[in-house]
Amino acid sequence: MTKREGSLEAPTRHPLDWKSPSFYDRDSCLQEMERVFDICHGCRRCVSLCNAFPSLFDLVDESATFEVDGVAKDDYWKVVDQCYLCDVCYLTKCPYVPPHDWNVDFPHLMLRAKAIQFKEGTPTKFRDSTLSATDRNGKLASIPIVVHAVNRANRMPLARGLMERALGVHRDAWLPDFDSRTFRRTAAKSVDYPVRDGERSPGKVAIFSTCFVNYNEPGIGHDLIAILAHNEIPYVLVSGEACCGMPKLELGDLDAVEKLKNQNIPQLAALARDGYAILGLIPSCALMFKQELPLMFPDDAEVQAVRAAMFDPFEYFFARRRDGMLHEDFNAELGRVSYHVACHTRVQNMGQKTREILELVSGAKVHTVERCSGHAGTWGVKKEFHETAMKIGRPVFNSMAEHPDGPPQWIASDCALAGHHIQQGMSGLEKPTGPRLAHPITLLRIAYGLA
Ligand code: SF4
Ligand code: SF4
Repeated sequence: MTKREGSLEAPTRHPLDWKSPSFYDRDSCLQEMERVFDICHGCRRCVSLCNAFPSLFDLVDESATFEVDGVAKDDYWKVVDQCYLCDVCYLTKCPYVPPHDWNVDFPHLMLRAKAIQFKEGTPTKFRDSTLSATDRNGKLASIPIVVHAVNRANRMPLARGLMERALGVHRDAWLPDFDSRTFRRTAAKSVDYPVRDGERSPGKVAIFSTCFVNYNEPGIGHDLIAILAHNEIPYVLVSGEACCGMPKLELGDLDAVEKLKNQNIPQLAALARDGYAILGLIPSCALMFKQELPLMFPDDAEVQAVRAAMFDPFEYFFARRRDGMLHEDFNAELGRVSYHVACHTRVQNMGQKTREILELVSGAKVHTVERCSGHAGTWGVKKEFHETAMKIGRPVFNSMAEHPDGPPQWIASDCALAGHHIQQGMSGLEKPTGPRLAHPITLLRIAYGLA
């Protein structure tokens, strides 16, 4: 039978069979890894995406047989450790994804392996579980008497050295500040504007603020609110919001993902049924509700309802514009913006909506960089991965600095964490360009001239 590369049909994603006992069967997972690694070894398209593929190909090339059968199964975990589940190989590169017979889903195979590792326990389990408890960490660190000490410790070399030894957080990795004036506590109440539904955009918004915006950078949430108010779109905050579960998913802790899903989905589904557009302010969190939870819980109607109502903020503004309901009275220029498309924005398959909206601002020159920054949630701050994260990000740091119209005045990424990682990488370049870092939502607020 002739094997055709790729498929004439659109890629499909199989649900994750994580409730089945065989999902956690180590031998069957290793067998599947051998099958997929062999296909990847013959293909090698993904070599430049991340460090998982180079790790695999090095193992093969250094083996006695130069084939996957020469690689010790124990070494497979070295590949697993290098994958941070960005999904880019599946959604933008691989011609062998289903419905192709070869049925390659590299990220979900890595997720299965991580889930097995998590169940079995790893030496870094305490560190990994601590870092991924974003909601709990945020609640503790944003307590007024604690917040200054935490923020100061993040900047003190001595404290960072201790943290590296005790927790395995790399001493040079950028860590976010915490803010005691959390977004959810300080967000202004919406004016009671009339709801004007568009064909593509619901006329009222529910804000899923995310742990990062709530505890670390509430300003992004306030900027979103200012933009919604300017466009006379009524909004609410999602009540009883918990972490979306992405940090736990990346760890393979699927039971924790289910617990968080059970906390979030009832009220999100009620909002979806009530006709709200739900805006997730961090791409990974929006992706969690758009893709990962629907694949983990394919028969859960509430999860599917939330999927249909979830928007990236710029996807929403773009739909609003197509409905003729987005104000375009921008009165401040942005100038040269180097804009990074985060991986978890890319894999939402919605096109470059952030760029398209920012380009509406008069005089805005948006230079778009679409490549992994290497930050990858908590992965890039870990002691053993931080240097690789900086290496993966280097082409992005360089491209962001090379705006075709001159030195960038702004750098921006849909992923606020990736933005800081990029800023850190750019400040190490030989010719520091000195652009300001701002989230695209903040840039939009500036362009509107909203105080
Ligand atoms: S999901 Fe991302 S990190 Fe993992 S193997 Fe694919 S491209 Fe690399
Ligand atoms: S994931 Fe697909 S495209 Fe990437 S190396 Fe493997 S087979 Fe090739």
